[in-house]
Amino acid sequence: MRRISVFGATGSIGRNTLDLVARAPRGSYDVVALTGGANIARLAADARRFNAEIAVTAYPEKLDALRDALAGSGVEAAAGPEALREAAARPADWVMSAIVGAAGLEPGLEAAKTGATLALANKESLVCAGPLLIETARAAGSTILPVDSEHSAVFQALVGEDVARVERLIITASGGAFRDWPLEKLATATVAQASSHPNWDMGQRITIDSASMFNKALELIEAKEFFGIAPEKIEALVHPESLVHALVGFCDGGLMAHVGPPDMRHAIGYALHWPDRGPVPVERLDLAAIGRFTFRAPEAARYPALALARRVMEQGGLSGAVFNAAKEEALTAFIENRIGFLQMAEVVERVLDAVSAREDLENAVISLDNVRAADHLARQTAAETIARAVA
Ligand code: NAD
Ligand code: MG
Repeated sequence: MRRISVFGATGSIGRNTLDLVARAPRGSYDVVALTGGANIARLAADARRFNAEIAVTAYPEKLDALRDALAGSGVEAAAGPEALREAAARPADWVMSAIVGAAGLEPGLEAAKTGATLALANKESLVCAGPLLIETARAAGSTILPVDSEHSAVFQALVGEDVARVERLIITASGGAFRDWPLEKLATATVAQASSHPNWDMGQRITIDSASMFNKALELIEAKEFFGIAPEKIEALVHPESLVHALVGFCDGGLMAHVGPPDMRHAIGYALHWPDRGPVPVERLDLAAIGRFTFRAPEAARYPALALARRVMEQGGLSGAVFNAAKEEALTAFIENRIGFLQMAEVVERVLDAVSAREDLENAVISLDNVRAADHLARQTAAETIARAVA
């Protein structure tokens, strides 16, 4: 029986993870911790269904509601960031890190310290603190398995290979909701329009990040951090069908592509069964019916986020933490209708200009304290930039 925990259990990745756990033969998994946010009914229902040891909501003001919902179940209830850290420190064999945003970093670090296998959907952890997370995991003997579909694809293409023989990594992108919009219309894009993805069913924030390409920007940085590959070898390619998830090019000119349906249960299932492979209930592709795969280069003018990612990959240090925090604030401001769609990239660029070039940050080591400080400063600067943009 494998002991598992799911951080962000009520979200899109979390629910897909629990779907696979529920389908496994009885007695395969023993659920330690499940965590969520404001959706107490779902968190409590899943904690009961899987007989979890503990359920944690991110929000202290929801603790009473969670206790009530769990009354008589024997499941412990807890709330807040400290409770999330404590739950992550509980011994488990496998931990899914699927909280959205920088809030996922600390639970992931705690889980890595226990030596658990860390299934990492929270790409922000690698963007903000890649070297710290990787070194923490290495020191504790914890294996990190990427759950982002593109990175799972690269990971699978690299089994048995020497990373030193990799010439290029191609991360595909659907192009998002506005890939075919006329450029001049982008400024008018609404939250509702940006929240609908052509191929993938995901949480709202990552769906909007797909429309703006900030998701791919995060993924380029994530690939550099996770695989330790030089920025100039990593590229993004628009592939509207979302069936080829990534390609790895080797020094002999060969390209290994990973092909599969746009269903996150593949990448989650790969991480769940690793190092073995096990059955995953995703659609089997009928390639003759599909007929063709198409690719095109991403247009720089449509997707300014990609150039910002390149700058962060080259700069390194704490610029990833600054980039991510600025992006999170700009995204929240867009969702709250305080700024327009194109202003998100403008805000992030201004914050990078103002914050990431500061000498104290540029030369700082990537410790948790320094990441927190860079994150805080970037959010403050983003808030000021957004306030000026609105005024
Ligand atoms: P989601 O919004 O559907 O779910 C997020 C989860 O995090 C929920 O359980 C929510 O309650 C919890 N949460 C939100 N804010 C929190 C906070 N401050 N503290 C603690 N918990 C909090 O998001 P998602 O789409 O499942 O994405 C989760 C992560 O996986 C993200 O990092 C995303 O980039 C990554 N990812 C998602 C997909 C996908 O298909 N959805 C694909 C690849 C990578
Ligand atoms: Mg992805």
